[in-house]
Amino acid sequence: MADTRKSKICCSFCGRPESEVNFMLTGLNGYICDSCVAQAYDITQEALHTQKSTKSSKLNLEELPKPKEIKEFLDQYVIGQDDAKRFLSVSVYNHYKRLLQHDSGDDVEIEKSNIIMVGSTGTGKTLLARTIAKLLKVPFTIVDATVLTEAGYVGEDIESLLTRLLQVADYNVAEAERGIVFIDEIDKIARKGDNPSITRDVSGEGVQQGLLKLLEGSVVNVPPQGGRKHPDQKMIPVNTKNILFICGGAFDGIEKKIAQRLNAHVVGYGAVRNTATIDKSNLMQYIAPQDLKSFGLIPEIIGRLPILTYLQPLDRSALRSILTEPKNSIIKQYIKLLEMDGVKLTFEETVLEYVVDKAVEYKLGARGLRSIVETIMMDVMYEIPSSGTKEYVLTLDYAKHQIEKANLARLQNA
Ligand code: ADP
Repeated sequence: MADTRKSKICCSFCGRPESEVNFMLTGLNGYICDSCVAQAYDITQEALHTQKSTKSSKLNLEELPKPKEIKEFLDQYVIGQDDAKRFLSVSVYNHYKRLLQHDSGDDVEIEKSNIIMVGSTGTGKTLLARTIAKLLKVPFTIVDATVLTEAGYVGEDIESLLTRLLQVADYNVAEAERGIVFIDEIDKIARKGDNPSITRDVSGEGVQQGLLKLLEGSVVNVPPQGGRKHPDQKMIPVNTKNILFICGGAFDGIEKKIAQRLNAHVVGYGAVRNTATIDKSNLMQYIAPQDLKSFGLIPEIIGRLPILTYLQPLDRSALRSILTEPKNSIIKQYIKLLEMDGVKLTFEETVLEYVVDKAVEYKLGARGLRSIVETIMMDVMYEIPSSGTKEYVLTLDYAKHQIEKANLARLQNA
């Protein structure tokens, strides 16, 4: 009896009997099998995306953070780099204004101003980008230009820079078209010499030409890649006209180009006065578009990145501030970690100075601070949670001992 009833259970959508499916859901007046559920899910998702992709969220100038507020927010996480912060804050604010003006159909068209940030590795370019992302009201993504060189020439690869943006915007094309893309390591696609006719570096220049299309504003076909696999995966057309591009790069050795240019200018009349005012310890502050050209960016790309700003090298006092001042500074993070075990952790001031000394000595910059503190803290973090201690003071002797021990181990392994 039970068998006859069971054999009658068929999916109300595809008609397959229960015996041929993995799982059958029972409704009030029918049944649905697992594969029809999966298909229905796909279809609804696609329909929702198509519906959504014609709408974009409305911005309201009153509610948007002003450049000063954006900078104050950045100040909580990033030490120094005032110039870069100001440029970024204004550019992001202007980006919003341009979108608002675009929505209102006004005929005075505000052109977008893509940005390029130049600064040695570990000075906070990516940190700035990540921090600003926290308060943005538009989709934002960070992509790496190096992958473009590896894969070779233009084509789909350049367009794939926008895949992540589409994903962040949940495949809402209209939203993605108002987004911001941070292209890291832009210097890696530079041509290897200043003279295109002799030292032509095809891959670098090819990628730059491809990138130009994106920066200028055009409709590009983006592979939706990364989503569910559809046999007939379609490209998604995205208009880059309103997408703001922020580029960052270390441009290793660009100081030499800056120095050459400054020297060339200071020969002759007025030379003495000019050389006297040049701060040779920080040439980066004098960076100009022609230095980017000397480094190997094509003039068309430079023209599409009208806002050029720089990041200062981090000195001792900046490194010291980075250890404790940012809202989520390294030291605050370790204090928090031990607080969760009920332990009050404090560092002797001399330990912090010692960490900075080591970062400078190893030429690791801000990037090294974490690994040095990690080396010092490893044993403490291993022992303390099961020791019943309520308070722990990290002393200079202990820190030195831990670092020397680690160095010894490294030497022995070498
Ligand atoms: P870049 O992109 O310039 O190579 P990052 O932004 O990735 O450098 O910085 C590496 C790490 O160093 C960051 O995660 C951060 O902890 C620290 N750091 C670098 N610069 C700063 C800064 N100006 N303020 C605070 N932390 C910084």
